[in-house]
Amino acid sequence: MRSKITLLVSAFLVSASLLAAQTRTPRTTLDIYVIDVEGGNSVLFVAPSGGSVLIDTGNVAPGDVRDAGRIMDAAKDAGLTQIDHVIITHWHGDHFGGLTELAKLIPIKDFIDHGPNMQPAPQVDEFLQKTYPTLYADATHRVAKPGDTIPVPGLTWLIVSSAGEVLKSPLRGEGKPNPYCASYKPTDANIEDPLSVGSLITFGKFRTIHLGDLTKNKEFAMMCPNNPIGTVDLFLGLHHGQSTSNSPVMVHALHPRVAIMNDGTRKGGEPETMQTIHSSPGLEDLWEMHFSLLSGQEYTVPGMFIANTIDDQQPSMPIAAMPVPTPGPGVLPPPQHNGKAYWIKVSAQQDGTFTVTNTRNGFSKTYQSGK
Ligand SMILES: [Zn+2]
Ligand SMILES: [Zn+2]
Repeated sequence: MRSKITLLVSAFLVSASLLAAQTRTPRTTLDIYVIDVEGGNSVLFVAPSGGSVLIDTGNVAPGDVRDAGRIMDAAKDAGLTQIDHVIITHWHGDHFGGLTELAKLIPIKDFIDHGPNMQPAPQVDEFLQKTYPTLYADATHRVAKPGDTIPVPGLTWLIVSSAGEVLKSPLRGEGKPNPYCASYKPTDANIEDPLSVGSLITFGKFRTIHLGDLTKNKEFAMMCPNNPIGTVDLFLGLHHGQSTSNSPVMVHALHPRVAIMNDGTRKGGEPETMQTIHSSPGLEDLWEMHFSLLSGQEYTVPGMFIANTIDDQQPSMPIAAMPVPTPGPGVLPPPQHNGKAYWIKVSAQQDGTFTVTNTRNGFSKTYQSGK
């Protein structure tokens, strides 16, 4: 009798949840929203199961309310009522900045990071001591390490870097020598970027990677002498296109068909990175969040691949790439973009086919599997 009641109850629950699901067209794709947070990072993943992961939350104040709102717009578009997992790749203000504001707008169930902040920054330390614990008080919190997986039904979500450690044991069938290691040149970096939490996400035959701001030296540590990962279809983020990351040992060896760069109007898209990406074997297209003055027209992609413009449109964009300005007083602010923000949306299918859409101009391109 008892089992009969349990059966009846569970049958009712199943039909109730089916009914709820039927109010939306059932999702069959992995949907990825690359959200414009003005040269910061925020990427939302929604699996066909409805499971969700958000990598980073945009900028600190004064951009935090704006960026949390933009993330919320994407969450609503995806029909989310909660975010299952948030990964903060590292403790830079363009990556965790909108977290407090976002947590006011939508429940977050699980917080993942690389551990303590290592780069001297009093505001970040204060956030980690006073505010962060209150955000995950009613949720779970954990420190990622390479080899960990994040449970998202329908996806395989593997952590490949965290706190300076990188994946070394090859995935099944991988581990071949990486031919780009011989020409690698070490580069200096700040303290936090090399600690970035990196993720490799697999959905059927579709594979994508997001490495936060992981730097060249860690790319080398992970990818040399042998490539433990193999190839991906889509390379996300690319550290805004800055030249302290994105060496051929990573970009060329992963052989992405498509890359999507989270650059700002005067941040990233630097010539060295653009040369590496544009010469990457098998690359079909690079999509960008903004036109970066650091690219100029010399290195940029056509506007149809760029998601956002600037508030004060100039009659023409500079042709030459601008050198990276030295921070300090007297540096003019970058061109502002506070008007409507557009995301780039990726919809991937189990068979590896995926479609990328620029929501500003509606331009969309499908990359068929098996090519
Ligand atoms: Zn960054
Ligand atoms: Zn950073």
